[in-house]
Amino acid sequence: MKPETQSPAPRHGNPFAGILWGILIVLLLNGLVFPMFNPRRISTTDYGTFIERVDSGLVREVMIKNGQIYFSALNAEGKTAAYQTGAIDDPRLVDRLLEAQSPNENGKIAFTRIVPRENSPILNFLLMWILPGLIFYMLWRQASRSLQARMGSGGNVLSFGNSGAKIYADSDVKTTFSDVAGQDEAKEALTEIVDFLHAPAKYAEIGASLPKGALLVGPPGTGKTLIARAVAGEAKVPFFAMSGSEFVQMFVGMGAAKVRDLFRQANEKAPCIIFIDEIDAIGKRRDTAIGGNDEREQTLNQLLTEMDGFDGRKGVVILAATNRPESLDKALLRPGRFDRRIQMELPDLEGRKAILRVHLSKVKHEAVDLAIVAQATAGSSGAELANIVNEAALRAVRQGRRKVTTADLEESVETVMAGAQKKNKVLSAEEKRIVAYHEIGHALVAVMQTASAPVHKITIIPRTSGALGYTMQVDEGEQVLLSRENLFNRIATLAGGRSAEELVFGSITTGASNDIEQATRLARAMVTRFGMSEKYDMMGLETVSNAYLGGDNALTCSSETAADIDREVLRIVREAHDKARGILTAHRDILDRAASFLMERETISGEEFMAIVGNRDIVG
Ligand code: ADP
Ligand code: MG
Ligand code: ZN
Repeated sequence: MKPETQSPAPRHGNPFAGILWGILIVLLLNGLVFPMFNPRRISTTDYGTFIERVDSGLVREVMIKNGQIYFSALNAEGKTAAYQTGAIDDPRLVDRLLEAQSPNENGKIAFTRIVPRENSPILNFLLMWILPGLIFYMLWRQASRSLQARMGSGGNVLSFGNSGAKIYADSDVKTTFSDVAGQDEAKEALTEIVDFLHAPAKYAEIGASLPKGALLVGPPGTGKTLIARAVAGEAKVPFFAMSGSEFVQMFVGMGAAKVRDLFRQANEKAPCIIFIDEIDAIGKRRDTAIGGNDEREQTLNQLLTEMDGFDGRKGVVILAATNRPESLDKALLRPGRFDRRIQMELPDLEGRKAILRVHLSKVKHEAVDLAIVAQATAGSSGAELANIVNEAALRAVRQGRRKVTTADLEESVETVMAGAQKKNKVLSAEEKRIVAYHEIGHALVAVMQTASAPVHKITIIPRTSGALGYTMQVDEGEQVLLSRENLFNRIATLAGGRSAEELVFGSITTGASNDIEQATRLARAMVTRFGMSEKYDMMGLETVSNAYLGGDNALTCSSETAADIDREVLRIVREAHDKARGILTAHRDILDRAASFLMERETISGEEFMAIVGNRDIVG
């Protein structure tokens, strides 16, 4: 699901409307000056044929107009038809016509010449000179007006026309805190702001001024934009929403003008909320590097000035959202500006259940086991959960059902996480065998290591994401702290797929590339960030920036150490690989049984797998 749109964008006149008008007028004029032809069917002949017809007495009527001769004559079937031919300067034409026989009742050809009406010289002058000028003027007016609208009312670089940018306030926001599930800490922090907006006088009486601004910080899709709207909806005040990128304009100074405009209009409407989404677009740290962005810095300066300038007791609250807080300019974050920082985190198990509940309440559904879905979606954001519910609803519709079921949700979790099922992709029997062993390898290693989470589902149905099969592990309860053993076991589990291939087929395939990537990343983090290698003890060797957007790692050590880190990582990965192989060798019988069961079924549940592991009978 896409983030909600914020405020209605300012509408400007469409420059094409002007052009269309122009074309229309030209067409109309054309019609006046050059009358259009009668659309009747007229066939063209040559002059010789015309004379021949006249002489043979077939012609009924002749009309000469605009250098063309139009005539009607009997055709081969004896019917009257219309013809046209170019007029030739023929002095004998009139004599011929007078002399010729005709099928007309009086035996004479009827002929006329139509003289085109000459326009008066004044009209000609108007049409040729004044009208085009007028049309161009109108086009230019249209174009400049829309340009003006786009540049904002502070159009001091090019200023023509007179319409200023209007920043629309949404004065009737329907979103409330009940639409935002979980995020209780954030709601609590914002409740005070809501209260303040309800009754600013209460605070002014004591002399307290509330924070002017609050910064919503968190990974994408955690509901920052949503909660900002909810604050406006709860407080029932106008909501000025703009995205940071909207301030960054083509001309230096325009962004600053827009900021001024925004604050002026907000001040008039106080109490109200100004919301600047994705503020990092303008609030990025100013730096001295050459090629700094003048426009952005001016806009930021203007924002800082405005935030200092306005009276905090009047009831204008500024909310801003970002997922790159560390990139923001320090000046923005100092007290008196965005001095409150509200953290929006990825939801935990309870949070996910709550979010699913909110979104499920918008679709028709049967009794759904939320716990299963919430458990299977560890690490998903609110936006992803909303998407999962919607996908489930779409699936229900596709299958002609009226209500969403747990199965729909489970399937859509997989669709969102691993792509849709690829129905027509057929694996050869041998490939299927390899994939089955690979996946069971993961699952078996996971289960045999007590610290690892049990398996929820194993499938070997190819997915559009390119996965040929996968093993879904379930984190029971949220683990915040991971021990070294946890991490190591995870790496061993990742190595389980490849290990099974080695053990059973004696050869290896490309199927493990993703496992290898993940395992290496984990092992590297253990060494460089978590201080989990004996050799480097608690030395930090890497910094992570941009944590909310995947994270960019930068080594902070010498190149010798970097080379040594690689060796250390390799040691961990190799150890984990050995462990995985050991486990699978020890439980080869289970591996074989589970793999053949999976090959037969294509998808098996965690319970079925546990039954095989526990050597119990499987029913059905
Ligand atoms: P952000 O601005 O943090 O990137 P949004 O506020 O745009 O995320 O969230 C996108 C969508 O995800 C919302 O419109 C909503 O449908 C859903 N969503 C996110 N978080 C929540 C939540 N806590 N409760 C309910 N829905 C949520
Ligand atoms: Mg957003
Ligand atoms: Zn794998």
